[in-house]
Amino acid sequence: MMRINVGHLRILLVMSMIILAPSAQAQWKNKIKQVDSVLTFLHERQLFNGTVLLAEKGKVIYRKSFGIDGPAGKPLTTTSSFNLASVSKQFYTMMVMMLKEENKVSFDDPVQKHLPAFPYPGITLRNLMNHTSGLPEYFSIADRQMNLMDTLTNQEMLDILVRKKTPLEFKTGDRFVYCNTNYTTLASVIEKVSGIKCDKFFSERIAKPLGMNNSFIYNLTMKTYPASRVWGFRYSGGKPVLDDLIAFDGIVGDGNVYSSAEDLLKWDQALYGSRLVKPATFNEALTPATLNDGTKSNYGFGWDVEEPGKIYSHSGGWVGFRTFISRYVSTKQTFIILENSTNFRAIRLVKNILENKPYGLPVTQLVSNVQIVDGTGLSAYKGAVRIVNDRIGDIGDLHPFRGESVVDGKGYVLAPGFIDSHSHHERDLSKNPDGIAAISQGITTIVIGQDGGSDPIDSLKARIVKRPASVNIATYTGHATLREQAMNDVYRKADTAEIGKMKTLLAAELKKGSLGLSTGLEYEEGFYATRDEVIELARVAAANNGRYISHIRSEDINIERAVEEVIDIGKAAKIPVQISHLKIAMRSKWGHSRDIIARLERARAEGVDITADVYPYSLWVSTPRVLFPKKDFLSAASARYATEELFDPAQSVILAFAGKPAYVGKTVKEIASMNNESESATLMRIIRESESEGATMAGASMSEEDISNFLSWQHTNICSDGYAGGHPRGYGSFPRVLGYYGREKKLLPLETAVYKMTGLTAEHLGISDRGVLTQFNYADMVLFNPAIVKDNATMRDPSALSTGIEMVWVNGRIVYRNHEATHSHPGMFVTNATN
Ligand SMILES: [Zn+2]
Repeated sequence: MMRINVGHLRILLVMSMIILAPSAQAQWKNKIKQVDSVLTFLHERQLFNGTVLLAEKGKVIYRKSFGIDGPAGKPLTTTSSFNLASVSKQFYTMMVMMLKEENKVSFDDPVQKHLPAFPYPGITLRNLMNHTSGLPEYFSIADRQMNLMDTLTNQEMLDILVRKKTPLEFKTGDRFVYCNTNYTTLASVIEKVSGIKCDKFFSERIAKPLGMNNSFIYNLTMKTYPASRVWGFRYSGGKPVLDDLIAFDGIVGDGNVYSSAEDLLKWDQALYGSRLVKPATFNEALTPATLNDGTKSNYGFGWDVEEPGKIYSHSGGWVGFRTFISRYVSTKQTFIILENSTNFRAIRLVKNILENKPYGLPVTQLVSNVQIVDGTGLSAYKGAVRIVNDRIGDIGDLHPFRGESVVDGKGYVLAPGFIDSHSHHERDLSKNPDGIAAISQGITTIVIGQDGGSDPIDSLKARIVKRPASVNIATYTGHATLREQAMNDVYRKADTAEIGKMKTLLAAELKKGSLGLSTGLEYEEGFYATRDEVIELARVAAANNGRYISHIRSEDINIERAVEEVIDIGKAAKIPVQISHLKIAMRSKWGHSRDIIARLERARAEGVDITADVYPYSLWVSTPRVLFPKKDFLSAASARYATEELFDPAQSVILAFAGKPAYVGKTVKEIASMNNESESATLMRIIRESESEGATMAGASMSEEDISNFLSWQHTNICSDGYAGGHPRGYGSFPRVLGYYGREKKLLPLETAVYKMTGLTAEHLGISDRGVLTQFNYADMVLFNPAIVKDNATMRDPSALSTGIEMVWVNGRIVYRNHEATHSHPGMFVTNATN
């Protein structure tokens, strides 16, 4: 048994205190210095405007104000009163704790006991305070009930809940989900039980006793406010623009307590004692909720429990305000930060410094002297764009900050990076992560999982982590892939059980971030599926905010019926539908593009959200088997029909042919004379000889007039349908639209062409934070010279780089410069707005 020499231990402790004390103090001093220099750096770059206070045992160690109290521009002080946003919530729970000590409420009272009209019987005050009620968020519910000039109040919100009886999001107590409706309801309870308004309760029972002289509740129904009030704003074009209370702000409970850094320190100190409520009562506020299954959340009554017994905090964000309070109760340290220019960065950085965690300063770059074509279709304008890390920080008449790196755009066009809504570039990225075929034409996001074939999201994500590439990747989930997983034989229609299995697989992929369902109904793996099978799957996509994109069942002889089918699927499944690479691949139907567009417009008028993508070439690339619409590959009549009607044998080239290198690079006409036979006999030979290994053909089937009509339709976006090599579209699609169709043929104004490559495309995919150059979107951008931009890739030289694409950024990093890849690989997995 070991004996402990207590005396010896004590001496050791004293010695270590002597040794450690100065260094701990030096460490603390060093931290304060770091905090100050980080905040100064951020403030100089318009990334922080606000006040900060650090205290230990109630004594202020650091306090400083940076910037202005609103666009009007009075300097901030540490007594300026900020809208605390959600940091307000802890004050409303304090009011409930006070009422509890007066025996006017109990935490486990049903809300209905105090508000009899409240339509959810099982919800208690505790459920409200610790966010386990299951109530729906009020913003969207209230928005639909309000007129333009209305200001929402607590009574109106309660009336809306009573009237709408919107179902709970989950069974009360099952989960923790942060929800502001809990606290607007809580405020109504406080006012009912106490008989006074929350603002009066707050000022008489909390602010006055604690000497919080610059703290108050303010909402838009009140006429006056104290002079210390701060206004929210954000920087736009380098200038502060008001971003303050909105129509929801007649309400209290979830926010709208105003306070200063100095006052919040008084509040923090009071929570250690019993000036407001007994410590035992307050302790409940710091106790995480226990859910129905016995697990604990990380939230008490208006407090995040970061580390029980050590760190309690809360953050807030509303209009221009970003706020945070952290109480390190084991060391009695306090960190308060109040921001009013919509910048959250300082909070995380200072917190990491205080907690000895690594932190990095944001990197900003200025792209100046450019014509901004922002991807919305609006006219170009001169300006500059500031990148902050991976996002667009600001746009407008911007000037470089001290020490900021600047790219001179030389007056060229700066546009959002192009989004390729139908791409096969991913197959090459594992070998060539630079993705030169894509980035050299300005593409920054590729959308894969097309034509019915896809990889599972999990393996795609793992691939992106293991082997990152230059471009972002989004994916659809392929119908043929689902069929292969659910059926032992895909060359027939699926039965009910198989469709059920496909639905389950699809739903899981959508939840992981798939954009929707893709089909390739012209290919044999999808061809045998019935329309009803596709509709059932499309309904699953619709229910998960997904979309439907389709290589339709026929692009030639049955194109009209195929278009009817995709319209019908959109109508039946109530889902946005997009036709992939819209084209007419049949000579006798050339010129029918106007009829097809008219049909699509009619469908839109009937309420079907139907769109299309197009690539700008008269050649397609696929298996020659698509030339047999009836899949009767042995029929001489069908082969003759194909050579006469469906493609031009003199212009159509075999690109790949396993086992017959002699055919590669030759036209079908050339192969026919090699074999001394008719062109239709050669087509049958190609099908026969390629049966096991497959062949790839560039087929000449489309007319320039139809391509121009489809490119011009206001609901088509541009795609490449390409990959590196094979068909020139893999390298040239986007510059070809800008140069040949835009500048030379004057088919599209520049802004419209860019819109069809960016903003419109993002809309067609459901992607919300890319495709438009706007503040806080991802910094995917392309700089190009509109006077010379053009494609150079041809059938003979499909990998020739385009001219005029000067620089490309993906997620704020330059991936293409001086007509070379930079070997930077910042591409991310991209998903839609709801994922
Ligand atoms: Zn396709």
